Amino acid sequence: MSTLTRDEEFLLQQARDAAKHAYCPYSHFAVGAACESEIGIVKGCNVENASYGLSCCAERSALFAAVSRGAKRFTRLALSCTNATADTRPETGMCCGACRQVMAELMPQNALVIIDGIGTFTVAELLPKPFLLLGETNSQKEVLP
Ligand SMILES: [Zn+2]
Repeated sequence: MSTLTRDEEFLLQQARDAAKHAYCPYSHFAVGAACESEIGIVKGCNVENASYGLSCCAERSALFAAVSRGAKRFTRLALSCTNATADTRPETGMCCGACRQVMAELMPQNALVIIDGIGTFTVAELLPKPFLLLGETNSQKEVLP
């Protein structure tokens, strides 16, 4: 895993903190996410449901909460599955397809996604050919330097 900047490490710590609130009685994977935008850092955790399909991942919880608070320009998102063990497959800590699709719509394609213990990826690396309906979404914008 590449070395994180101080800001990236802070964002990752916020994601780990968010995992403390995870509601995960079925998977037992406590996941937290923290997204950074012009309104600051907004955290989210996975919230599972007995019907499984209604469960929401930490990444989408964080992004939806941030949008609900007015966020429009996302720069980074950090993700942590805090109770993954040494024998947990690395793929288990990756973002699912639904979250990648949401990131592709809401975040710039070169925004960074920092995944605890795995690595840092751009949104475009996680989902290079997203489904898009609108002509102008954040996914066609780039993070300002
Ligand atoms: Zn997901």
